[in-house]
Amino acid sequence: MRNPMFVYDEKLTELIVDYCRKRLALDPVPLDFGGAEELLDTALAGLMTPGGTDPETVLGIFADRLATAVISCDSPRFLSFIPAAPTKAALLFDMVVSCSSLHGTSWLEAAGVVAAENQALAVLADIAGLPAGAGGCFVAGGTAGNLSALMVARDTASFRRAGRPGTTSRIAISEEAHSSVGKALKVIAVEPFVVAVHDHRLTGAALRAALDADPHADDVVGVVATAGTTNAGMIDDLAGIADVAAERSLWFHIDGAYGGAGLFAPSVREHYRGVERADSLVIDPHKWLFAPFDCAALIYREPRLAKAVHTQTAAYLDVLHDEDNEVWNPSDYAIHLTRRARGLPLWFSLAVHGTDAYRDAIETVLITTRQCAALIERTAHVELLRQPELSVVLFRRLGWGPQDYEDWSARLLASQTGFVTPTTWEGEKVARLAFLHPNTTIDMIEEILATMA
Ligand SMILES: *Cc1c(COP(=O)(O)O)cnc(C)c1O
Repeated sequence: MRNPMFVYDEKLTELIVDYCRKRLALDPVPLDFGGAEELLDTALAGLMTPGGTDPETVLGIFADRLATAVISCDSPRFLSFIPAAPTKAALLFDMVVSCSSLHGTSWLEAAGVVAAENQALAVLADIAGLPAGAGGCFVAGGTAGNLSALMVARDTASFRRAGRPGTTSRIAISEEAHSSVGKALKVIAVEPFVVAVHDHRLTGAALRAALDADPHADDVVGVVATAGTTNAGMIDDLAGIADVAAERSLWFHIDGAYGGAGLFAPSVREHYRGVERADSLVIDPHKWLFAPFDCAALIYREPRLAKAVHTQTAAYLDVLHDEDNEVWNPSDYAIHLTRRARGLPLWFSLAVHGTDAYRDAIETVLITTRQCAALIERTAHVELLRQPELSVVLFRRLGWGPQDYEDWSARLLASQTGFVTPTTWEGEKVARLAFLHPNTTIDMIEEILATMA
């Protein structure tokens, strides 16, 4: 008898597909709420049994008790952290990836997946102006991308310095670099060379001055620039930093996890001048390129340098590496081996909708952001802290202290008006709105601002 867990079950399929259909059709997606541990414990109690529970019951618990205890990051009213807004096409194709058990580890096993993922990566490399040979792979997130890229930065430098043993290396970062960059340097045991910045933006001049002032600057082997800081949406002086990187033979890594998507938008493209000179670049499609989690693009100018660092060798893997026949294995370009074909939902959606639709959706978000900034400037009880460069708006409510922002944030969620968490800016607790969903409207923002009056 065949094992029943592997037999096609029409009723179970209907149950799940029907749930997915209803979730996809929600318009707008409700925000929902955070969860209380006791309630979730109660909901889950007794579910793991030797004999199993019928799927309607389990799905019912998920739908009614668990899914509602998740603040939906694809709601147009989710304006905290970095929201999400996956296209329907991308979400649906993610189901195809799952139902087909697609993986994307090596060319030998999954050539069709690898070719399609590389086509999507090529769109991103091209829009950044990287040369035709650029490439890499999709990883789980910007964190994994930054770590994998900085490993290549470190090892490429130590290879080039092979004649000078004993030197340690450091990598230059701005005070404003994302927390994952500091984490990555810890993991690879490279000290950060922290460059103080003026007005939150790393410039070539600041980097050059900091290096000139340090007697041991020779051990700085790379620099990380941010193309869209998460807290304020600011883009570093990429062209100026590229100049210094060229002068000093530094590896030039750009963290565009959030902001890289802005490359598609003509209205801000100029701010990215110099991005085409990156040695490595990270862009998270699961943020502003409308892909489902988890999807980050990691692209190298010279992929062979990454391959030299990341290829895993093992007796059972030798067959993946054909000496005579150069093949593309995504596993060779980051710190991973088995990997989900996580680039395919983006690939499908890009192919179906076309790059113009992406450009327009990103521009729509930028327009909403500018309208929001203008609205704040016209509104008496709030004050804009700076003109947004991308899609993050920082502002203060005159007269409020830290607790006022926390209370307000809780009230907004309780009334399902918005999910907006405060941040800290120049030592002060302030309000922050992060836009990403093209269906967030200025009316929603007006509604949110009105609650601060
Ligand atoms: C979100 C973000 C990261 C981390 O990316 P994950 O996908 O969350 O791992 C890194 N850098 C920047 C600038 C980000 O916005």
